[in-house]
Amino acid sequence: MIPAAFDYVRPATVDEAVAALAKAGEDAKVLAGGQSLIPVLRLRLAAPSVLVDLGAIPELRRIRADGDRIAIGAMAPHHEVLHDDLVREHVSLLARATETVADNQTRHRGTLGGSLAHADPAGDLGGVALALDAEFVIVGPSGTRTVPASEFFVDYFTTALSEDEILTEVRFPRYTGWGSHYEKFNRTAQSWSMVAIAAAVRVDGGTIAEARVGLTNMGTTPLRATGVEEALVGQPATAEAVRAAAERVTEGTAAPSDADAAADYREHLARVLTGRAVLAAAG
Ligand SMILES: Cc1cc2nc3c(=O)[nH]c(=O)nc-3n(C[C@H](O)[C@H](O)[C@H](O)COP(=O)(O)OP(=O)(O)OC[C@H]3O[C@@H](n4cnc5c(N)ncnc54)[C@H](O)[C@@H]3O)c2cc1C
Repeated sequence: MIPAAFDYVRPATVDEAVAALAKAGEDAKVLAGGQSLIPVLRLRLAAPSVLVDLGAIPELRRIRADGDRIAIGAMAPHHEVLHDDLVREHVSLLARATETVADNQTRHRGTLGGSLAHADPAGDLGGVALALDAEFVIVGPSGTRTVPASEFFVDYFTTALSEDEILTEVRFPRYTGWGSHYEKFNRTAQSWSMVAIAAAVRVDGGTIAEARVGLTNMGTTPLRATGVEEALVGQPATAEAVRAAAERVTEGTAAPSDADAAADYREHLARVLTGRAVLAAAG
């Protein structure tokens, strides 16, 4: 279908983009890679009067080292994130998860910021941001604020972003030397996750010293499996110990039942995939 008519602006700076959003009022929408927004417009599920395209603001595409963090511009396309040397060395879990997003074409257009702002519970990058304690840099009419991942994802397709705000950067602590793995279960290659588990662990002398585990599609938002993390720390990196810890993965989850899978099947998948992801991350 053809979208309803809209005005289109393509600002050159973040300040201009924020001003354009403020001027347009609540009827405006930010456009990033368009991989989720354009289908929504074509189906007429939304009909904004103005689209503010962030594609001409080069600083939003940068990936850089910033002290103890790796800062990734919201407009960095998935393809650039997953091939970036800094990301691969210090935030390898993000690279591994990004590699599973959609197909090559979509990864060239879709962006890290667009995925996180869209907040689809089946999206692959929210659980990673949550597990790794990422920070979200948000700019609006009253200035810049930083929101931890634990407060960014509010509900189904809902984040801490207001309509007049722009996500400009996502900052990840460095996990240099950690092992990581993203275990995604889907029905067909390149489709969305039925369930997925993001795991990063630091192993010291055969013992799991630190662990981070994020969950995709086990609730209305990405979730963090803190019970599993607690159970893993101090354990030997063996199949038996990891599988016992993985039993706690459904604590605090609310897996959906839909055409793809019933909730109890998703819970079963989560336990199995957590074991696999943590063992692979631990090497
Ligand atoms: C065929 C196909 C398969 C896919 N498969 C997967 C998959 O397996 N896993 C997965 O995780 N994703 C998948 N996706 C989604 C893909 O990752 C998109 O990149 C992502 O959902 C949206 O990113 P985008 O840059 O295209 O954002 P857009 O579509 O441009 O925007 C999405 C939403 O976020 C808002 N927004 C975007 N950027 C900002 C910003 N900087 N500040 C504030 N608001 C912003 C927009 O206003 C809009 O509401 C798939 C998409 C397609 C088309």
